[in-house]
Amino acid sequence: MREPELRQFLVEICHRMYRQGYIAAGDGNVSAKMDDGERVLVTPTGLHKGFIKQEDLVIVDLHGKLLRGTRKPSSEFLMHELAYAERPDVGAVVHSHPPITVALALAGVSLAQCILSETCLVLGAILVAPYSTPTTDEVPRVLKPYMRQTNAMVMDRHGAITLGRNLDEAYNRLEAMEHAAKITHAARVLGPVAPLPPHEVDKLQLLAKQLGIPRAPDPCTLCNACPNGTGGPIANPGDDAIVDVVVRRLRGEA
Ligand SMILES: [Zn+2]
Repeated sequence: MREPELRQFLVEICHRMYRQGYIAAGDGNVSAKMDDGERVLVTPTGLHKGFIKQEDLVIVDLHGKLLRGTRKPSSEFLMHELAYAERPDVGAVVHSHPPITVALALAGVSLAQCILSETCLVLGAILVAPYSTPTTDEVPRVLKPYMRQTNAMVMDRHGAITLGRNLDEAYNRLEAMEHAAKITHAARVLGPVAPLPPHEVDKLQLLAKQLGIPRAPDPCTLCNACPNGTGGPIANPGDDAIVDVVVRRLRGEA
């Protein structure tokens, strides 16, 4: 995406985040790699992202050094720097404070368990990282082990980070995560919620692989949610055939 379109889209993503209630006041920050892969367009510190304008955005290098713009880059750029360093596949980072996702983490309810089939299929595991003091180098230190294992993580007592190959993908993952959190919350108010059985989780992981739905590069070992982790072996004989049928149908071949 060329710079003018990227500016326009990044601002639109910030406005969407505010409209959807994922940020309030000066919360959140968004960045996207520019075409050369060495510069990053990012929101400035302090401003209300719900009303941000294209000229407020700044351009920094991959370490957060200001290259262009009149404002100071986000004070939370350290997490963006970490994401780009750990994940060459990542082109955009969205940091927000989605209330239900954060509330579930506060109450000790994990979103890592596969409860909803589509969340499991399109998002994979949502991991919760321990608390770290915002804007300090504690943040990248605490988040580092999680970065290669998930595209959607919760920072305890703070917010969430979603990663994507582009802005669209990173934002959609935030929306998918908060939507899953809302459903999980509503269900838990009504009664206990059981996760999908492991062999069904395996089928979804295999289906994601066959459909080419992108996953974090490393298998997830930090979720503590399922016995097999992601992409584990198929538990039931015959599941392979079922997945083949589903994949063919989705591709319009059957
Ligand atoms: Zn924050």
